[in-house]
This record gives sequence, structure tokens and C-alpha cells, in this order.
Amino acid sequence: MARANIIIEIYCLLITIALHICNIFVTRNIPQRRRDRYLGIMIYVNAAILVCYTIYLFVDGMPQYAFINNFFSGLCYAGGAVLTALFIEYVYSIVLETRKASSTFVHIIIGLCTIAVAFDIVSIFNGIYFYTANGFHVRGPYYMINQVFIFLLLLLEIIYIIVQRKALKRDMFSLIIYIFIPALATIGQIFVSNYNLLYPATTLSLVVVYIVISINQSSEMSKKNEDLKKAMSDMNAAKKVAETANHSKTDFLSSMSHDIRTPLNAIVGMTNIAIENLDNKKEALENLQVVQQSAKHLLSLINDVLDMSMIENGVIKINLKEFALADVLEESLKIVWHLAYAHKQNLIFDASNVKDEFYIGDNPRIKQIVINLLSNAIKYTQTSGEIRLIVEEIPGVDPNVPTIKISCIDNGIGIAKDAQERIFKPFVREIKTASNPIEGTGLGLAIVKQIVDAMNGTIMVNSQKGKGSEFVVTLPLALADEKKMLASYEDVRNESLLVVSDHPEEFMIVGLHTYDLITTDEIMSQTYNPSKTYQAIICDSEKKSITLVRKIREVYPAAILIWHGNFAEEEHEKEIMECGADAIIYGTIIRSYLYKEYQRLQATKALLSNDLYLHGKNVLVVEDQVINALIIEHLLKNAGASVWKAENGLEAVDMFLNSIEGQFDLIMMDIMMPVMDGHTAATKIRTANRSDAKTVPIVAMTANVYEDDVQKSKAEGMNAHLSKPIDPALLKETITYLLTNQSTSARKG
Ligand code: ADP
Repeated sequence: MARANIIIEIYCLLITIALHICNIFVTRNIPQRRRDRYLGIMIYVNAAILVCYTIYLFVDGMPQYAFINNFFSGLCYAGGAVLTALFIEYVYSIVLETRKASSTFVHIIIGLCTIAVAFDIVSIFNGIYFYTANGFHVRGPYYMINQVFIFLLLLLEIIYIIVQRKALKRDMFSLIIYIFIPALATIGQIFVSNYNLLYPATTLSLVVVYIVISINQSSEMSKKNEDLKKAMSDMNAAKKVAETANHSKTDFLSSMSHDIRTPLNAIVGMTNIAIENLDNKKEALENLQVVQQSAKHLLSLINDVLDMSMIENGVIKINLKEFALADVLEESLKIVWHLAYAHKQNLIFDASNVKDEFYIGDNPRIKQIVINLLSNAIKYTQTSGEIRLIVEEIPGVDPNVPTIKISCIDNGIGIAKDAQERIFKPFVREIKTASNPIEGTGLGLAIVKQIVDAMNGTIMVNSQKGKGSEFVVTLPLALADEKKMLASYEDVRNESLLVVSDHPEEFMIVGLHTYDLITTDEIMSQTYNPSKTYQAIICDSEKKSITLVRKIREVYPAAILIWHGNFAEEEHEKEIMECGADAIIYGTIIRSYLYKEYQRLQATKALLSNDLYLHGKNVLVVEDQVINALIIEHLLKNAGASVWKAENGLEAVDMFLNSIEGQFDLIMMDIMMPVMDGHTAATKIRTANRSDAKTVPIVAMTANVYEDDVQKSKAEGMNAHLSKPIDPALLKETITYLLTNQSTSARKG
């Protein structure tokens, strides 16, 4: 029997050595985990047990080696207990990979194993578990206790594995097998005394655990490899995107530095020439006009870049407000028409299919869209080309929310098919900036697209190279309350209106049908006899403009006279105005815009009658930038004001609080200042305990006027918001309005 046993044990030993070699090879290229270390030690211990067991088998039956027999038997027993302790540590290390777990239970088992080891060693000397009789290994009186103890320890380990099943996941199965095989062997051994089943069983267990864990590990590794491959391909894609973005940005930066330098050079150069020409007023003025134009261009360039970075940072906010569509369209046209005129292009504005006049939306942003499309059309269309802005109302998806369709059509250079999708991306231009004679940054359409998206609208381009382009924007816009909106035109709504037209049957005003209509021939006839007086007259004629205006002025000298023209005859504008027209409206006339023109013309008349609109007034200017303070001081002094200056908000509050009540008629407040900003200063002034604290008009001045700024300054009690550089006409209009309104409300109060 001993020989068979030896062969089995030597086999087991060889398997264990092979296992050990495998373990070294498999784990050599991966970072050693705690569990790998424990598995390694278990293989070593198993090998040591097998060696001890083989030695004891050799000497079994040799009475002279009785002690050696006992000694190595004891080591085998103790080795079994050590393996049990190592196993629970092994399980615990797998648990720790997934979650934090208490080690108390593990320590209890290790403690029990240590006790088992102690008794095994003691047994070498007192024979409680085993002893040697006639040189042969014999089971001792307490052999069964030892077996049951080990069996119970194995059971406790199974319980631990089951409790921790969630953390052990797929490994649980192999771990239970590991326990199961020696547990069966322990029971089996009670009945089979000739063979030792336990040690081959632990070897088998190790092999099973090893194989299952290796399979798990390799499937985990292949998943990790896949993840890694995916991560690599994602990284490559991201790298490509970053490279393209970088390219576009480098391209953009080089074009930007060119675009910024051009107007800056003009500003610096022309200012020098203007200084030299100080004696020649006319030339100096011409130089300064170039400076002014270049500065404006620079400002718009910087605004574009800031706008884009705001949009890229997700700051774009859509502020919904009731507005008149006509205002947005006319104001946009006013900004671009001189560009079209400079190119001798015909600009056609057709809004005859707009049904409603008042909508709810972000009008400055809508204006930005229209201006961008129109200025592109003008830029990319040859001299004498034609640009049409067609605005119509079409039914929306929701019947309560109509859709405004804005089409900007030109017969310019067109865009190649492959570039049509790209042009809505930032910094993209069809022709690279370096070789593009047309100024641009490639940001305009990207900004437009972002705004349109934020408004839930759509933008499309239809273009043919060399033939022209059509950009179509649709924006769903809710309708505003018409009655409420018309209330702001109450003072001019009942003006009596006469229309003089070449073709009365074709003439129309969107939203207005109550006016008298006569033909041009009628008014020009010798026999024309005005039967009633009119407060406003619109002249819609293509012929003899000058004679006609003169004639109308003769007949109706006091009426507001508006010429209805088209941009093509814009060169006659000056003459028409000189002959007596008060204003010119191009393209479709919309009622609300007409009313606004009436109001503007009446206000201008009032203003013109008083150029020193600040005569005798004390104005406090709060501005930290010396140049800005000088500019505003100059404007105010020219209007007759006495100017007081403060360099920051704190100084302004001090000056206000120490002034005689009512001393200051107006405060011009910069917002961004050191020591105390304009917002805080305005709040402090408004909350001061004096009679003029609530009534003194405060006008905010900032570099940009975004809707948020306006709302914020209003909340702090400021009355108006002007953007720098200050436009003198707007300053005059704003201040006149504030001073008139303040005196009315003071009187009312
Ligand atoms: P920019 O005009 O500053 O280059 P945009 O973003 O406004 O930037 O336009 C992007 C590109 O789209 C332009 O560079 C131009 O090539 C093309 N594009 C835009 N509008 C038109 C148009 N109306 N006709 C022809 N090309 C246009």
C-alpha cells in the first residue's frame, strides 16, 4: 500500500510543481494582486505537505525511524490547517477587490486554524491524533476530533463564501469546489484508513481553482483588451477631431491677427495723418471718418469672437419679449443698406406676406440673424448684383405658434455643394482666409446656426456655384397681444394719412387700411384742390421724384412727408430729403414701423428745436477710463451741461451724498470700475435717504449691451443702458426722453 501511496503523492507533487510553474508564467506579465500571492503560497504549502508526506511514507514500517515518521506526519496535519487558513485569506482578498469587508470572521477562522496547528504539533509528542506502533503510522484516540474540527472549519469557509457571493461573483463556484473536494475527502478518510485522501484532494482542488480562475481571468483580459482597443480607437478619433479643431483654430488665429491688424493699422495711421491735417478741417474730418469706420469694424469683429466664445460655453440665452417684427427688419436693413449701396447692389425687401406684426421672441438675436445673412449676401455678391430679403408668415406645426420664414436670396458667387454643410461650423470659410479677398472670420453662420437652434428653428442653404445662394431660416414665434403692443403708438395712431401713388391699386401697408389714396397725376394736376389737411403723407412713386416732393410740400407744408422708395434709387435720397421729405422707407411698409417713424420724426423735430438739450443741467459722470470720461464729458458739455466727474462708484456715491438735494440732474454710470462697480453704486444711490435718491436719472454705460445687462441695471434702478462707444444721437434721444419723463413724473408725483 505504501508504494501506491508514494506514487500518488509523487504525482500530486509533480502536479503541484507544474501548477507553481504555471502560476509563475501566467502572472509574470501582470501586476501581482493580493489573491495571486496567496494562491502562490498555497501551492508552496501544498508542495511542502506532499514532500513531508512522501518522507513519512518512506519511513513507515521502520521502527528505528518512528520519530521521523511522527514528525513528518505532524507537519502534514499542521500543513492542512495552514492551507485552510491561507484559503480563507485568499477568499478574503478576492472580496476586497470588489468591496470593503470586515476581517473579523476571517481572523476567527485563522485563529481556529492556528489552534489546529498547535494540536497537530503537540500530537507529534503525545500521540493524541496519531502515533507509531512497530514503526507504522497509527491513528490516535482523538483522530476523529481532528477530522471533525477541520471539517467544521471547511464548513465555516463555505458559509463565508455564500455570504460574500455578490463580491465573489463568478469565482464563487470554483471556491466552493475547492472546499467541497477536501471536505468529502475528510469524511471519506474516516472510512478508508489505508489511503490518505486529503492531500491528493487539496491538490485536485488547487488544480480546479487554478483552471477556473485562469479561464475567468483570460475572459476578463480579453474583455479588457476589447475595452482597451475601443478606448484606443475613441482616442484616435478624438485626436483627429482635436487636430482638425486645432487646424481651424490656427487658421482662425492667423486670419484674426490679420483681420484685427488691418483696422488697427488704419486707426493708428489715419489718426497720425489727422493730427498732421489739423489745420485742414476737411481733410482731417475725412481721416477721422476712416478712423471711425475702422474702429466700428474692429468692434464688430471683437463682438463676433466674444459672442462665439459665449455660445461655445453654452451661455447663449434666449430672452423672450414681445416685439414688433417690422422694427427688427427695418433696423437690420438700416445697418446693411449702405454696404449694398457701396456695391451698387439692388436690395429688395418684401414682407407683404407677413400677417401679424407683433410676436414674442428674442428680437436682438433675430436681428443678428438677419444682419448676418444680409451682410454675407452683400459680401459674396458682385457689384450691381441683387439681394432679396423676403419675410413671410407660414403656418407652424402648432396652429397657435406661427412660423416666420426669412429668406435671403442673392445672385452672387454661390457656394460649392461640398462646402454647404461645413459653412455652419465655426471658423470655416469656403475659401481660406489667406487667399480670400473678402474679409471674414468664418464665425457668422456658426453663430446664426446656434441662435436658430436655440430658438427651435431651422436654417437651410440652397446654392449653386456662380449662380447665387438662398438662405432660409424658419423661426416658430408665438403671437404677442396686439392691443397691448399698439398702445405704445397711441399718440400717433390717429394721424390722418394720405397716400400719393403711381399705382394706387398696388399700394399696401401691412396692418393698415384706413388712409386716403390719390394718384400722382391727380396731385400734380393744376386743378388739384386739397379738400382736407393730413398729418402724414406717403409718396409712392417712381417718376419725377423731385417735382412731386416739391408739389406735395407746397400743398401740405406742415405734414410729415415720407418717401416710399426702393434701394436702387437710393442715390436720389439726398435730393428727395433736401426738397422737403422727412424720411424714406424702403420696401414693404408695415403699420407698426410707420407709427414708429411718426414718433421718431416728431421727437427729432422737438430735438432739433433744442440743440443745447442739457443747458443748465448738472451731470455726474462716473467713469474710470480717462479717454472714455473725456469723450462723454465732451458730448455732455457740447449739449450745455456742467460736468462733474468721479473715477469710481465709491467716489460717485460720496459726491452724490454730499451734494445739495436736487443738484444733479443726471448720472452717467460706467459699470465695470475698480473700488466699487456701477451696479453697487446705483443701488447705494437709490437707497439713500434723500428726496432725489429715487428720481435722479441714472444711465448705465457698458462695452456690450446684452439683454441680461439691461435687466440687471433696471433691477438696480437705472433708467437706461447705453453701449460704448456712445452714439451722440442716441445719447441725446435717451437723455431728452429721460429728462422730459422725469419732470412729468415728478410733476405728477
Ligand atoms: P465669413 O463670412 O466671416 O467668412 P460666415 O460664417 O458668415 O463667415 O460664412 C462662412 C462661409 O460661407 C463664408 O466664408 C463663405 O464662403 C460662405 N458664404 C456665406 N454666405 C454666403 C453667400 N451669401 N454667398 C456665398 N458664400 C457664402
